[in-house]
Amino acid sequence: MILRNTGLRRCTYRLLSTKNKELESSTNTNHAISTKQLLYTTDPSSPGSIFFLPHGTRVLNKLIQFMKNQQIKYGFQEVVTPLIFKTKLWQKSGHWENYKDDMFKVVGNDLSKEEHHGENIEEHEYGLKPMNCPSHCMIYAKFDRSYNELPVRYSDFSSLHRNEASGALSGLTRVRRFHQDDGHIFCNMEQVDQEIKNTINLIKDTYDVFGINKIEYYLSTRPEEKFIGDVETWDNAENKLKKVLNEATGEGNWTIREGDGAFYGPKIDVLLTDAFQKKHQVGTIQLDFQLPKRFDLKYVAEDGTRDNQPILIHRAVFGSLERFFAILLDHYQGKWPFWINPRQAVIIPVNESHITHAIDLQKVISGDIVNTEKSISPLTGFNFHVDVDKRPETVGYRTKDAIQRGYSYIIIIGDKDIANGTFAIRSRDDRKVFNKTSNEIYEQFVELEKSYK
Ligand SMILES: [Zn+2]
Repeated sequence: MILRNTGLRRCTYRLLSTKNKELESSTNTNHAISTKQLLYTTDPSSPGSIFFLPHGTRVLNKLIQFMKNQQIKYGFQEVVTPLIFKTKLWQKSGHWENYKDDMFKVVGNDLSKEEHHGENIEEHEYGLKPMNCPSHCMIYAKFDRSYNELPVRYSDFSSLHRNEASGALSGLTRVRRFHQDDGHIFCNMEQVDQEIKNTINLIKDTYDVFGINKIEYYLSTRPEEKFIGDVETWDNAENKLKKVLNEATGEGNWTIREGDGAFYGPKIDVLLTDAFQKKHQVGTIQLDFQLPKRFDLKYVAEDGTRDNQPILIHRAVFGSLERFFAILLDHYQGKWPFWINPRQAVIIPVNESHITHAIDLQKVISGDIVNTEKSISPLTGFNFHVDVDKRPETVGYRTKDAIQRGYSYIIIIGDKDIANGTFAIRSRDDRKVFNKTSNEIYEQFVELEKSYK
């Protein structure tokens, strides 16, 4: 029997420890920031599933868009796959045997109808997917594949469900429904090095954007007893991983966990240390010799032979997006950098007579996405989240409130600004005030987004 935590928990987002106090306090901090910034909420009607509020959704969408753009660079093709699959599929993938307790069963309401009596109940029983791997194997298997197509790389941002015990559910880090920046690479043994190297580079570059430079790599090798495949293939794969780790991270900069690999292949776990010296498991790279066998995946080699099996690499950079969101909440303490801030700027008209001008300014510096006179908004371009605070409160009160809510920039607009055509813009961080035209402000925003600042 395979242990739950080392078996099919591939592409996992498992916590290092769920019992420590740090996690508890981090969940509380997250909750406090979320309450102040209106980011997400939960409800007992769906325990462990997050409701992302409009501003939280902005952050989540930025993370997804960020990763989609990186993945295009690395040759991934995004796919959209079903959420429910018949039990038979999960039997084929091995999940039913090893992972059933962590899955949700789905049955149609017509199951109890008389016409189904005596039929094979499994025909009408489904499982809600806990992972995307089987879907991607199925897409691979739908077509004849040739060596010159490899590597085939699929990415997927589907929601996944895992039936975590209700007592273990906590904030964004221990959930039942989550999303991953999930990716699967089908390649041959010679291509493994480059694919792993690419993934490590993407992980390093990505974390660097968020100012997270402390990354640890752990290589887990073949378990002593329970493993599939022959020792030679394992040794070969492990040596490749060691070589790639040495090249990509430098010798001695990674740690080996002997015998800790999954039964289906060796893996690299990536841990990051946040600003508070807390460690989180995020990215993962796992080689898999088993699923290609279970799904009978093949490709035609250069010599014309048809019986060649690709290797499957499971990989995720953020891991669970919900979890990464929680790490960022901790990391930034609500002070989001401009590019990902759900509240990028607020315009405060001094009094009612300045509201029209404030709205005109909002049009320009938001990228014309709000209050646009065009009937259809453009598909791409630089657009920013800019609000106008029209409340009949004092400028001082609204400024203080804007700081509290975490706006990156505060722009106050009065008679003098309108007459001069320049606006006093102050940054949340250094509180310095600059007078800029609307176009200069927009250009500044574009530059900040381009440089992920
Ligand atoms: Zn996977």
